[in-house]
Amino acid sequence: MSARSWSSPAHNMFPASANYPDLSKHNNCMSKHLTPAMYARLRDKVTPNGVTFDQIIQTGVDNPGHPFIMTVGCTAGDEESYEVFKEFMDKVIDDRHGGYGPDEIHPTDLDASKIRGGMFDDKYVLSSRVRTGRCIRGLTLPPVCSRAERREVERVVKDALSGLKGELNGQYYPLGNMTDAEQDRLIEDHFLFDKPVSPLLLCAGMARDWPDARGIWHNDKKNFLVWVNEEDHTRIISMEKGGNMRRVFQRFCDGLNQVEESIKQRGWEFMWNEHLGYVLTCPSNLGTGLRCGVHVKLPRISQDKRFDKILDSMRLQKRGTGGVDTAATGGIYDISNSDRLGKSEVQLVQQLIDGLELLIQMEKLLERGKKIEHLIPADAKR
Ligand code: ADP
Ligand code: MG
Repeated sequence: MSARSWSSPAHNMFPASANYPDLSKHNNCMSKHLTPAMYARLRDKVTPNGVTFDQIIQTGVDNPGHPFIMTVGCTAGDEESYEVFKEFMDKVIDDRHGGYGPDEIHPTDLDASKIRGGMFDDKYVLSSRVRTGRCIRGLTLPPVCSRAERREVERVVKDALSGLKGELNGQYYPLGNMTDAEQDRLIEDHFLFDKPVSPLLLCAGMARDWPDARGIWHNDKKNFLVWVNEEDHTRIISMEKGGNMRRVFQRFCDGLNQVEESIKQRGWEFMWNEHLGYVLTCPSNLGTGLRCGVHVKLPRISQDKRFDKILDSMRLQKRGTGGVDTAATGGIYDISNSDRLGKSEVQLVQQLIDGLELLIQMEKLLERGKKIEHLIPADAKR
């Protein structure tokens, strides 16, 4: 694909060096990999939809770091952003996904019958959830989309979801029609995305026109949900109380297949390619887009000074239970897989299950005043 070049009298007046962002206080993937020379090569390129490099990195320029996670510091404006700005994106992707080369092929596997284990004690695991994102080819992404495109996403998705039957029969609730109390309730119950308060979202331009064309669809049992027009065109979620991750993943796979089928029947398809898998707004979500996580009570092992290292060695991530911008309280954490790309859905869910089993085993030993040294992964001891 050939990138257009951006040219305007005001733009052309200044060299790239005069426009380079001040990254001196930054610590995110973007700031680690961007160089003045790279910026000079990319600044004047635009995607076929007119997305510029400065739009891509704006959220990372405005948010030097994050208190709880290492952020990526950039967002895509359209599917083509990953091609046109490949030189930069490949570096960020490689870094964020723990090593992923520019020629690797991403595997997809949504066969839930391959999962081993995954039935956890409700005493520790309060809730189980698997989510992904899917975006619709041909429409630009939330950081840059027009109001009309956003409304078209809503129309297409709502229409496709109305075709789901049986267990997946449900209804769409536009944000604009909800009372504040209804919205707050859905957020508190962990069903709905937060209000647009996250600086990451705001600085990326994803909160424009809020709440226009945003909403949530869910089935009657509220265990299969679809968010519309938050960070991605859609976020598809399977969740329930307790520790039955097996059942949650099974429903996730079944539901996702049906949603995709219904989208296709209407003449649309998801953004996808062999190398990046499913293409989403944040490079951290490429590939599977899958975050398989639990709210889990770990008051003892979480106090071990090696906790972060233990999680990291098992490629797991922690958050607070109110979402990515919250800290954990009362020893209850949101623990999920950190990788999304280069491994299949089945592999990532298995990784979470195996890691969580180990964490709970450690927690139980600590409860009884026993040692856990023999269970600490070797690279977490260093
Ligand atoms: P995502 O990566 O899906 O965007 P966030 O960290 O932004 O996740 O959280 C979105 C919402 O989902 C929050 O309300 C959060 O509490 C809820 N959530 C995430 N994981 C779980 C879980 N395992 N059980 C219940 N709710 C969850
Ligand atoms: Mg989120």
